[in-house]
Amino acid sequence: MKKCRICGKPAEVFLISRNLALCRRDFVENFEKRVEKTINKFRMADRGEKILVAVSGGKDSLALLHVLKKLGYRVTGYHINLGIGQYSHESLKKVLDFQKKEGIEIIIENVKEEFGMGIGEISKLLRQPTCSICGTIKRYMFNRTAGSFDVIATGHNLDDEAATLMGNVLNWQIEYLARQYPVLESKNNLKKKIKPFVFMSEYETATYAFLEDIDYIVEECPYATGAKSIFYKGILNRVEDRMRGTKIHFLSGFFKQRGRFVSQEKRTELKPCIKCGYMTTSNICQFCRIKEKINNKKGGNHERNFLQNQ
Ligand SMILES: [Zn+2]
Ligand SMILES: [Zn+2]
Repeated sequence: MKKCRICGKPAEVFLISRNLALCRRDFVENFEKRVEKTINKFRMADRGEKILVAVSGGKDSLALLHVLKKLGYRVTGYHINLGIGQYSHESLKKVLDFQKKEGIEIIIENVKEEFGMGIGEISKLLRQPTCSICGTIKRYMFNRTAGSFDVIATGHNLDDEAATLMGNVLNWQIEYLARQYPVLESKNNLKKKIKPFVFMSEYETATYAFLEDIDYIVEECPYATGAKSIFYKGILNRVEDRMRGTKIHFLSGFFKQRGRFVSQEKRTELKPCIKCGYMTTSNICQFCRIKEKINNKKGGNHERNFLQNQ
């Protein structure tokens, strides 16, 4: 039987990529120490700052909120009810249970209240890809709510970031490469953005959530099936199986080289949206455009129904 490298008691967690066996207690302690180390290394936040953490109801975001609070940071959660049937219903339930159990304030907003319909219906009505509509809406609402906070945090883990990097490299998305980093300083009216789990693997965040008794939604969003990111994760896992440490090497190596891409980044001028004031590249921001399009379509349907009833 393998023994914990730190205390010598029987090991229960095996981190193959780091060739490390640990008992439960030392795994939890080691995990928290590494998160703290990442926060300090990238100067993500200090304990006086107010951090708004985006929570989906999944393991990563709930574990992030939990660990930041445990480490003594000032955290508030932020959840958006996307209006995606049973999936959103279950997610909200996990978030509310978590809030009650941990005593952490979580702000909850609702896409249906904003648009009169959920993400799925919006994407169908506008004939635009669900994940891109969802991304735009989530980003906008998150930033809007972040007004009185100093920092915004998301639970993206090593697997997420390595998959994103792979996608960005395969398509040579220089603009995206320039912006992929664990910390993005505040710019225009956008808050400082941090990813404290950037070096924690999906296996580690899941294990941590399990050992810390965090109840989370296991199902992926129904629209995510077939997503490229999931495909890339599968490939990276196969490479990792053959060559331990590939993911961390791929990502941390990129962070060291990222400067090359930043210098190539096109400096697009941003200006406030004429409707809402959000910083955007055109006159009207994407969020307000979605609203406008929905209103136009709805108006159009009314007209058609009216004519049909004549
Ligand atoms: Zn131990
Ligand atoms: Zn706007």
